[in-house]
Amino acid sequence: MTRLALQGDLLDFTATPALDDPSDPAVRYRPGHWLLIGDDGRIAGVQAEPPGPDWPRECHPGRLVLPGFVDTHVHSAQLDVLGAYGTALLDWLAHHTFPAEQRMADPAHAARMSALFLDGLFAAGTTAAMVFPTVHKASAEALFAAGLARGMRLIAGKVLMDRHAPEALRDDVAGAERDCVDLIDRWHGRGRLAYAVTPRFAPTSSEAQLAMAGGLLAARPGLYVQTHLAENTDEVRWARALFPAARSYLDIYRRFGLLGPRTMLAHGIWLDDDDRRLLHDAGAAIAHCPSSNLFLGSGLFDWPAARAAGVAVTVGSDVGGGTSLSMPRTLADGYKVQALAGRRVTAWALLHAATRGAAEALGLGAEIGTLAPGQVADVVVWDRSASPVEARRQSVARDLHDAMFAWLTLADERHVASTRVAGVERFRRGHSLQTHADVSADPC
Ligand SMILES: [Zn+2]
Repeated sequence: MTRLALQGDLLDFTATPALDDPSDPAVRYRPGHWLLIGDDGRIAGVQAEPPGPDWPRECHPGRLVLPGFVDTHVHSAQLDVLGAYGTALLDWLAHHTFPAEQRMADPAHAARMSALFLDGLFAAGTTAAMVFPTVHKASAEALFAAGLARGMRLIAGKVLMDRHAPEALRDDVAGAERDCVDLIDRWHGRGRLAYAVTPRFAPTSSEAQLAMAGGLLAARPGLYVQTHLAENTDEVRWARALFPAARSYLDIYRRFGLLGPRTMLAHGIWLDDDDRRLLHDAGAAIAHCPSSNLFLGSGLFDWPAARAAGVAVTVGSDVGGGTSLSMPRTLADGYKVQALAGRRVTAWALLHAATRGAAEALGLGAEIGTLAPGQVADVVVWDRSASPVEARRQSVARDLHDAMFAWLTLADERHVASTRVAGVERFRRGHSLQTHADVSADPC
């Protein structure tokens, strides 16, 4: 039974806010309101007045109630390389990531890591994700099974990689196609799962494999695509050298039929105006990964240029290049990336990109991303502070944006009180994390 009336300070978005307007009216803030979750796991209503006695109640006075965050780019097999020292992208792959990914060939290990990973997302306040497992079919099976068991919106697919990787991480075109078809038949559209055709990035797939990937998409409408794009200058040079006929790195994906409205491209730092026009015309979206970009020293994403071109920008933690599954920490890094480039982005633009904006970019705007009636109740209750210092900062906030921007800058997993997925509580502080105080809701 998921029927519940949840009281707190509700915040979501009714439209796309400008990047740099703290008073943008697209934010909807409803303090002390009741969010009604029905037995179907969907939001039944939002109201200021307490509901009738037939509603079980849970009150969180002063706490924030937000739509669950959507992480549009993250690697389930890379928890083991979080915070790995000393390298840029291509060396980081070779020295840290590829060895860790090889362990996912073992189905038992893949199952343990998938559970740890998805529960880690819930503990961080993220309820939906677009995820890379590894090249191994078993890693995708394990991830989908874990996502199904948790009732979550999960988009994933076996990684395609038939060259420029260790032998143990390479597939081949025919075998990869068989695995993809099996996985699509078994998982795509089951529960809240969807399949994404997942070439790791252009340099690790042959032309024949990219053509196979494009063929899968053409034959089966409704699939997603996820891959990496223009993260690092050495990578861009390498991709261009491997595909000399393409106009740009992005153009490689276009030539193989991989660009469309269900395509999510991680990073997209080193693009030109023609690339951005192509992204817009295709309806493809970018997963901006600021924490990863800062940690690996990849570059500063030009968010205003993407916005000006009408390209949807979402946000990915990109663990393990990124250093945290926490979306507030990732969004705070998003602000810093723009600041380093002399630009500013508001709390509203950041929060929108990780909720409603991500949902719309994935074609899931009717399912997730806001607190509107009819949406699936992927809902997270957040503390406004986790220390006396933060509480002091919140107490002197000048206005709503000041309070929320400071919160976003300082918040992390410690602030997550409760995470619900389709109305079912999947995380409660104190129950899953022994080191934290239990969450108590006031008697209503
Ligand atoms: Zn990545």
